[in-house]
Amino acid sequence: MKRKKIHKERPLPEPELWAVLRAADDIIAQSGRTLLSKILKGSKERKLLELELDRNPSYGFYKELTLEQIMEKVDLTIRSRYLQLENSGKLPMIVFTPLGWVIERERRVEEFLQEWNRWIEGNVTPISMEYLKERNRGMMFLFLYKILCSRDKKYIPFLTLWERIDFKKVQAEIRHVIEDLQHNEKWNESEWEQLKRERAKTLLIRSRDPVFLLCQKCEYPFVLDEVNPDYYTSEGLRLPQECRNCMADQQP
Ligand SMILES: [Zn+2]
Repeated sequence: MKRKKIHKERPLPEPELWAVLRAADDIIAQSGRTLLSKILKGSKERKLLELELDRNPSYGFYKELTLEQIMEKVDLTIRSRYLQLENSGKLPMIVFTPLGWVIERERRVEEFLQEWNRWIEGNVTPISMEYLKERNRGMMFLFLYKILCSRDKKYIPFLTLWERIDFKKVQAEIRHVIEDLQHNEKWNESEWEQLKRERAKTLLIRSRDPVFLLCQKCEYPFVLDEVNPDYYTSEGLRLPQECRNCMADQQP
């Protein structure tokens, strides 16, 4: 049986895609395309300021463009299946697709990590880690996984603070990571890799819905195994470009 090819349109370049997804994150399932475009424009509209959306890191990202041009970028993000519209009440609301969320989740985690790095460099101790509580569990576990991958003890004091205030399940994982970092000299390179793989099994959590990618070679969609630790590199998320079949074809 022949599968139907999906029309291929070039999605936004990565930095633009990241900015659109980050802007969407603060209004997800609450607002539509127009407000999303206004955040990216850096609008000073009252509603936007009341919601403190001017504090979103993507606020004004497209300030040089017209609202219409920005709307076109948002629509392209929807057509490329990173965001989608969901009808609830009167207006269609912006929500992440499983793929969009996998990307945004990783970017947010990177944001949390950079923030900790700035605090550590500036000798700042946060008064409380409450801001990490009651967030998406998959995102917080990925944060722990990234901290583990750093193999850096400097995060232990912050982890200890965090452990105090979170729920039991998260506490247990934080404690594991603290212990792994404390004893990290004990392990050689391959033992450490082994340990990371072991932790990845609990810390990398699959989304509820399957994540689809479009193969760059045969142009058919394929299911992404988003809990594969190989994709989470120190340079960020590196998703495969080709499906298994096409990759296998290239093997000699
Ligand atoms: Zn393929």
